Amino acid sequence: MARGFLVVVSGPSGVGKSSILGGVLSATPSEFSTSATTRRPRAGEVDGVHYHFITRADFEARIDAGEVLEWAEYGGNLYGTLRSEVVPVLEVGRNVVLDIENEGAKQIRSTFPEAVLIFVRPPSLEELESRLRGRGDTSDRDIDRRLAVAADQMREAESIYDHIVLNEDLDAAIGRVLDILAELNPDQP
Ligand code: 5GP
Repeated sequence: MARGFLVVVSGPSGVGKSSILGGVLSATPSEFSTSATTRRPRAGEVDGVHYHFITRADFEARIDAGEVLEWAEYGGNLYGTLRSEVVPVLEVGRNVVLDIENEGAKQIRSTFPEAVLIFVRPPSLEELESRLRGRGDTSDRDIDRRLAVAADQMREAESIYDHIVLNEDLDAAIGRVLDILAELNPDQP
């Protein structure tokens, strides 16, 4: 059986990745890899669905045990991809989609050279700021920090990712990601 593809969908916080991923996952034989993180859940986030919310000590123990494929520190918290979310799924021929930041994407590139790396960008930083403010779950200080990180991520993106997808119109962005996946494997819808 052919192995699935590992697909990284990255982009600044607030760019609309979750909505794009929702559209992509429902249209392709793919699984979302639920990351582990040490950050606190936001309102509405469910343990085991949005993230595996774990302590820093547990996170570090999992790194030491070789259970973490890639990880990075972001906004003072650790985030990482668990091997158990990825390898068994690829082996049964399904794609695995990761929502991770740039450092993690680089690590995935070196561990899985055949992975497809997609970066979602906002129309502008101003637009990203208004989306982050509209979300209403993030403090002003956090928003400023996330915007500064977003500017860095966008500068670096060209040198890391295979594809840069503009999210101005959600359906168009989902369509573009689906086109990229269809080119990988013409047998998939
Ligand atoms: P948030 O706190 O907004 O959910 O996520 C913050 C950042 O962490 C986002 O850029 C997200 O893509 C990234 N992230 C989430 N999970 C992982 C992971 O497993 N590994 C890495 N490297 N980054 C992650």
